[in-house]
Amino acid sequence: MRQGMRQGDGSSVLLAMRQKNRPPVSSLQPATLYVVATPIGNLGDLSPRAVAVLAGADAILAEDTRHTRKLLTYAGLHTPLERFDDATTAAKTPQVVERLAAGETLALVSDAGMPAISDPGAPLVAACRDAGLEVIAVPGPSAAITALAASGLPTHAYYFAGFPPRKPGKRAKLLDTLEPLAATLVFYESPQRVAKFAAELAARFPQRAGALARELTKLHEEVLRLPLPKLAANLAARPSIKGECVILVAPAKTR
Ligand code: SAM
Repeated sequence: MRQGMRQGDGSSVLLAMRQKNRPPVSSLQPATLYVVATPIGNLGDLSPRAVAVLAGADAILAEDTRHTRKLLTYAGLHTPLERFDDATTAAKTPQVVERLAAGETLALVSDAGMPAISDPGAPLVAACRDAGLEVIAVPGPSAAITALAASGLPTHAYYFAGFPPRKPGKRAKLLDTLEPLAATLVFYESPQRVAKFAAELAARFPQRAGALARELTKLHEEVLRLPLPKLAANLAARPSIKGECVILVAPAKTR
């Protein structure tokens, strides 16, 4: 499990639930894929419903089985884990669809947050829908929505852009497309690249506010809202940036 958990991560609540109050698992539907959100840092964000589904599924499809094993250990669960990541999606999807059609109940998780959102899962969900199978999302944390809610930037409309392209030309093209949108822009970016990307955003949108949301729900959580040139300067002045980052840009002004 990720390092730097905050105090009060809810483990005592979960323990109590484990001992006497675990939600019934008999209500899980057969022939169904459950898409289950997991914490983006603070284990207290693992919902009782997520625990019930992970406990009751025939198997859990996980982006990284070692990573998810730690979550299961925390929750006291022993459900079988199978690898389902970007590298195995194409080969495994038809088998998973077959197993679901035969009546299995499967849960899909990613390393953190909502599966299928900049994470493996979307093609499997599409294949299940194409096959007329039931898919049920068990909602929970997602870094994009958590960052947006904490940023103080407008939330009436937002555009989730995921990770910006690595190639500068493609990045510039994407920003050309996004520039006129009257919506807050939400990007995922690695800590190694976030200062450079913030500088690009500041050069492109010098009049707009931006926000950095780093290490959300963890011990060193930081949410900073500043005019983009100031945000870029702040990040450029740091010797290094650690942890996971979401970077946001205020909407274009509408007339
Ligand atoms: N599906 C996940 C979700 O819904 O949150 C996102 C997975 S994506 C591969 C991982 C990216 O999400 C990270 O590179 C970072 O940009 C963002 N992220 C994940 N956890 C975060 C956190 N605790 N704080 C800030 N950003 C986070």
